[in-house]
Amino acid sequence: MEQPIIKVDHVTTKGVMTKSNTPLGGYSVNPYVGCPHACKYCYASFMKRFTGHTEDWGTFMDVKDWPVIANPKKYAGQKIIIGTVTDGYNPLEERYRKTRQLLTELKDSGADILICTKSDLVLRDMDLLMEINRKNRLTVSWSVNTLDEEFKNDMDAAVSIERRLAAMKQVYDAGIRTVCFISPVFPGLTDIEAIFHRAKDQCDLIWLENLNLRGGFKADIMKYIAEKHPELFPLYEMIYNKKNRSYFRMLEQKAEEMARVNNCQFVDNETPYERVPQGHPTIVDYFYHEEVRGTGNSGKRNK
Ligand code: SF4
Repeated sequence: MEQPIIKVDHVTTKGVMTKSNTPLGGYSVNPYVGCPHACKYCYASFMKRFTGHTEDWGTFMDVKDWPVIANPKKYAGQKIIIGTVTDGYNPLEERYRKTRQLLTELKDSGADILICTKSDLVLRDMDLLMEINRKNRLTVSWSVNTLDEEFKNDMDAAVSIERRLAAMKQVYDAGIRTVCFISPVFPGLTDIEAIFHRAKDQCDLIWLENLNLRGGFKADIMKYIAEKHPELFPLYEMIYNKKNRSYFRMLEQKAEEMARVNNCQFVDNETPYERVPQGHPTIVDYFYHEEVRGTGNSGKRNK
């Protein structure tokens, strides 16, 4: 996908920290509104409704200006997720440096910080990440749902999968906890086993999440499948129109078996902090996570 032309604005906000309403609690922090990565399946495109944007998702970005976080220690021990409805390391971060500013403000907070990205621009901030990692819990997660660059290019305008994996390795080798977030899992297209084997020696966690087609992008994805992978169209119809989940149940069993064979923990609804022996990442089953609210964060199988 070509990088779209981005209309940039600045917005002043009362604060940058937003209480999260996910089961994990904590805070969601997004230094920008909008995301130039323009993923075709981006659930965050609902943000348009809340921010008055009518442009296509991926073609606008508001750069947030916020008052300096006055008392970062207030977040000690709390979970802070950076990049829930934007990618803090989108290409415009190179110029505006808002994610770097945010991390600088939080570096002595003692918070449990998770950065979610599809970029390798995070490597620019290795000095800061190392400093944060000495004083706080820090995790960096890359979304990788394919090893096929052509499919990736059909779906997003972020950097190549190889660049993401190379960045993951560098951060992992620097002693920082990393996640390979296999999401969204596209039925018939995402090969979770191949991605697991490619990433297992450079990540502590593998997260698995199904493709969810509840958003306004459902029609675009169904059209894409019909045109590019017509052989898979009946499967998508079964899952997304007839609500038959047997495909993901089968994949869940496959993932559990993969964990057993490779001597990895297999848990759901959990983000255990500990780093794990190299080559044995904890596999976290977030399939249909949105429906298992309230099951607790036990680190065990809830089923
Ligand atoms: S990187 Fe994340 S926030 Fe950005 S467009 Fe893709 S899915 Fe949406």
